[in-house]
Amino acid sequence: MNWSAAARRIKAIILDIDGVMTDGMVGFGPEGNIKFFNARDGHAIKMALREGLLVGALSGRDDPVNRRRADELGLSFCYTGEKDKLAAFQRLLAEHHLQPDECLYVGDDVVDIPIFRRVGVAVAVSDAVPEAQAHAHVVTAAGGGRGAVREIIVRVLTEQGRWAKALARYVETGE
Ligand SMILES: [Mg+2]
Repeated sequence: MNWSAAARRIKAIILDIDGVMTDGMVGFGPEGNIKFFNARDGHAIKMALREGLLVGALSGRDDPVNRRRADELGLSFCYTGEKDKLAAFQRLLAEHHLQPDECLYVGDDVVDIPIFRRVGVAVAVSDAVPEAQAHAHVVTAAGGGRGAVREIIVRVLTEQGRWAKALARYVETGE
């Protein structure tokens, strides 16, 4: 894969949840599950949305906290409880009028491999299982729930020439 050319084509960033937006741990509390999401990943997602990219989640696990996090971030889509992730990905393409090569997908486990094999850019987090890493185009330096999402968003926006613009609202003095 030519990273530069592939990254410039990306219109949608699709994130697995467990092990990508989180570190993969799921706490079982008396009133439901507890997961820890990374606030810096969350802010990068908001910046990418502001720059016009679609950013959303695709998870096999049916869990109300997934949708809660998606709502909080204003994700473009949230497919959750999708036992057949590939079928959900194909539905996503149709519903959002996307071509596979316009999608970047971030995953961490073997269930993500069928999607890795179809998207323009397949990204495994640094602590993804080796089988998933072997099918990815890119492996992040950061782990799931530890900045991997932010890292890949910065890389894509930089390659698309949008990162400086995304940052401008924070660094401009207004003077
Ligand atoms: Mg996962």
